[in-house]
Amino acid sequence: MTVSAITPAISPEREAFLLASVPTGLLINGQWRDASDGGTFDVHDPATGEVLATLASATSEDALAALDAADKAQAAWARTAPRERAEILRRAFDLVTERAEDFALLMTLEMGKPLAEARGEVAYGAEFLRWFSEETVRDYGRYLTTPEGRNKILVQKKPVGPCLLITPWNFPLAMATRKVAPAVAAGCTMVLKPAKLTPLTAQLFAKTMLDAGLPAGVLNVVASSSAAGISGPLLADSRLRKVSFTGSTPVGKRLMADAAQNVLRTSMELGGNAPFIVFEDADLDAAVEGAMAAKMRNMGEACTAANRFLVQASVAQEFTRKFAAAMGALTTGRGTEPDTTVGPLIDAGARDDVHALVTAAVDAGATAVTGGSPVDGPGYFYRPTVLANVPNDAEILRQEIFGPVAPVTTFATEEDAIRLANATEYGLASYVYSRDFNRLLRVAEQIEFGMVGFNAGVISNAAAPFGGVKQSGLGREGGSEGIAEYTTTQYIGIADPWAAKG
Ligand code: NAD
Repeated sequence: MTVSAITPAISPEREAFLLASVPTGLLINGQWRDASDGGTFDVHDPATGEVLATLASATSEDALAALDAADKAQAAWARTAPRERAEILRRAFDLVTERAEDFALLMTLEMGKPLAEARGEVAYGAEFLRWFSEETVRDYGRYLTTPEGRNKILVQKKPVGPCLLITPWNFPLAMATRKVAPAVAAGCTMVLKPAKLTPLTAQLFAKTMLDAGLPAGVLNVVASSSAAGISGPLLADSRLRKVSFTGSTPVGKRLMADAAQNVLRTSMELGGNAPFIVFEDADLDAAVEGAMAAKMRNMGEACTAANRFLVQASVAQEFTRKFAAAMGALTTGRGTEPDTTVGPLIDAGARDDVHALVTAAVDAGATAVTGGSPVDGPGYFYRPTVLANVPNDAEILRQEIFGPVAPVTTFATEEDAIRLANATEYGLASYVYSRDFNRLLRVAEQIEFGMVGFNAGVISNAAAPFGGVKQSGLGREGGSEGIAEYTTTQYIGIADPWAAKG
């Protein structure tokens, strides 16, 4: 009996019922409402190209109304007891977990990832709510005596103030919870702008936050077909205090330039070009398993996706053969089908960009060991692909591929591996496979990446500080660092309390 025979596919009625439960308006000051000009935009299923839902499309005026609500709610929200904010987050964790199947199916419908992966994202995304509910009551300041004598230093944390949160389409839930949870923990109010390709999950999440008891005006959501039309006026408004962005490096640079006008706090989680280094002393089967996870999570549409496989020459053939066999055994299909392991790419442009990189690499001398072409028919599918003998100057090694394509290239020595890994303007995730722990530590010290996986293909965790160096961004999300992105430090200098006693 095949898996599909025992696991029923999702029925069209179940999909329609879920879609009908998602709010389609803008969330401003606790009310769902239409756009001020009545405008809307459609959300599509990338597996079929069909329209799933039509949402209100916020205008600049709506964005400013959202900021107005956030600004008015800020002072009272900042004064709430940390325990109260912690309990809202904890209830939100429980509700997202209870509604896990709805969130997972919604993400599969609007983004394309297989249901099993969408369930994984729900668990990962929900963890930020639980983690930050725990961090809320442990965000300590300090009190000390000055080195010279009896004067005192008091340091307290305060919320930054109203924040603009901009999220990408690839992890529709986790990228929202990774920002909203620490902002709630710190006592900030928010305007969230989800990606127009996948806003439905954020809409359901916002509804869930209200159900968890978040007061009106604390979280406002303005999905829009015009991202710049929302961010432009908000970044120019002095009531906004921070922008936290996850997305591509070019858009991040533009937002940083715009944020400079009011010297806003910025957190930037930008693009990556992760090296996956395999040394000859590695456990090759473990390396292939890690490579599959690091490459194929989210069909390769992840900022942490392994983008360059750097394999020591003596084991390159064996690694490539095993890796290509595992990639060739995957099944492409709509994410709701039980045996699908690879969903579609997000749109036709994304699929065509991936194919252009593959074609250019093959023209430059690379060999497609498996895959190498799009899948015909509706939806934007691309065959899982392994490219061998990729020249070191190939464009595919310089750009984020954002698709199920693994270029393999070789190196001779540890020094070569480090030099090749660092030869990029990005510095987000990296992966190293070796049985020699000293070597792993040597590599970690020299590699210019914010995150390193030692014999591990998936390293994201709510308790870990996620973020990059170089053009991969500024700031960290998750861990104890995550809340610091939403607080500001106030120093109070206190004169010698004994002096007044005479
Ligand atoms: P994108 O930069 O095109 O869009 C991200 C968000 O910015 C979306 O909400 C989009 O509507 C908005 N946006 C686009 N242009 C804008 C503008 N001019 N002004 C204001 N907002 C604008 O990125 P994407 O294609 O949605 O996501 C993929 C990118 O995100 C990749 O580069 C990936 O590496 C990166 N990413 C990074 C992380 C991380 O944590 N570092 C995580 C996920 C994705």
